[in-house]
Amino acid sequence: MQPVAALPLPDAQLLFLNTGLANEIGLNLPWEDRLAVLHLLSGNAAWPGQSATASAYAGHQFGNWVPRLGDGRVLTLAEWLAPDGSPVELQLKGAGPTPYARGSDGRATLASSVRELLACEALHALSVPTTRALSLAVSPLVIQRDDLQTAGVLSRTAPCFVRFGHFEFHAHHGTPQQLAALADHVIEHHFPYLKNHPRRHAAWLAEVIDLTAALLAHWQTLGFCHGVLNTDNLSVLGLTLDYGPYGFMERFRPHHVCNASDTEGRYAYTAQPAVGRWNCARLLDACLGLLAPQPEAAREQAQALLARYDEVYSQEVMRRWRAKLGLRQARAGDADLLNRWLTLLQRGKADFTLAFRRLADVIQTDPAEALPFLPPGQDGALRDWLHDWRTRLAGEGCQPAERAAAMRRVNPCYVLRNHLAHAAIEDAQRGSSTELHSLLAILARPFDEQAGAERYAAPQAEGGELAIGCMA
Ligand code: AMP
Ligand code: MG
Repeated sequence: MQPVAALPLPDAQLLFLNTGLANEIGLNLPWEDRLAVLHLLSGNAAWPGQSATASAYAGHQFGNWVPRLGDGRVLTLAEWLAPDGSPVELQLKGAGPTPYARGSDGRATLASSVRELLACEALHALSVPTTRALSLAVSPLVIQRDDLQTAGVLSRTAPCFVRFGHFEFHAHHGTPQQLAALADHVIEHHFPYLKNHPRRHAAWLAEVIDLTAALLAHWQTLGFCHGVLNTDNLSVLGLTLDYGPYGFMERFRPHHVCNASDTEGRYAYTAQPAVGRWNCARLLDACLGLLAPQPEAAREQAQALLARYDEVYSQEVMRRWRAKLGLRQARAGDADLLNRWLTLLQRGKADFTLAFRRLADVIQTDPAEALPFLPPGQDGALRDWLHDWRTRLAGEGCQPAERAAAMRRVNPCYVLRNHLAHAAIEDAQRGSSTELHSLLAILARPFDEQAGAERYAAPQAEGGELAIGCMA
């Protein structure tokens, strides 16, 4: 950890401030002095009483070991306890280089800052654990990427931003004592109920594995693709962290890759759960010394811990899929019913989000009018599937209206589609936050159909789906 001063952001303006989040975390700022608030949240003034720091971490990037990464363009400004007693860490992203910048400029583009802001707030509204966006400061400052871009400074919060990569860093460069101290710090502040556990490190690792498996299950059932699932981008609290070229899958394709630079599809939609497990294995490798003094015994324990991942993942993912299909009870054959439905979506090039959303409309009605996304060739297979699905539903004895309402509480109408993010970015690049705020208002209530918001539910036009490359 190193103290670092932020680099001032010239002619900064506050484009976004999350007042709801500010209240929730008890953010204590001189609200009546807008300029002072802007200075604090853009890196133009030091945080009173605390000096900003950047931390070192390591990681496996696209499967390759990278011993030295770290907060290259992120500063932790402050830490405190929220009114409900939970810990809060506040970071600035894009406020200049740190000792871990490895020659990069320490800045973030306005585009990538808007993308992170939108995604974390969208996932939060979908009840997916995530870091949060507090504010966005913009500036005419131009930075070089593939082309010239304007810069932004995002402030973001989480109970903490500790990554798997922090443990990998200490395992590689530090002493066993430092590794244990980091684990104990995380346990004390974020898993306090484990403090007096007789095997607290193993118990904590079990929690991290469970949280990660549950997070991946949640993503899969929303069609969310992270894009850069490196170990340095995985949170030990099971939060979605570090939004780069993410995407909510539109047309259902198991091998959908949202990151244009991921040419081998390492982080394709269907690969994510296994990557989550692989990353947990890397965390366990780093933490072997916390499990037992003898390597053999430690490895055995690590294997047992890793086995939890499959168990928790498969339980969680089926629980969520069942709810999306309106199934209340677990029965043999559910996975088959799900897979047949997903195959229909894939063959019909259906929009993942809308297909599930519309399923609630056809509990009783004719499929032809309500599921217009399936091409004529699929009619027979769809009719068969709907017949089997309705038979399965009938066996549970629940009122159709009640079941449809329950399905609409888990199948969002609105997700953050790339073209919507793109429109908000273009508007922000013109100095306007209108589209950003409109989009955030829709995404804040993803399960409620909102009058006049049809265009926010619509998929991108055929063929126009964007794969997002590096626009960091
Ligand atoms: P990411 O792919 O965003 O997770 O970043 C990987 C690593 O590169 C992290 O250590 C970042 O802090 C660092 N990094 C990315 N972009 C920059 C930048 N513009 N300046 C400094 N460090 C950066
Ligand atoms: Mg990262």
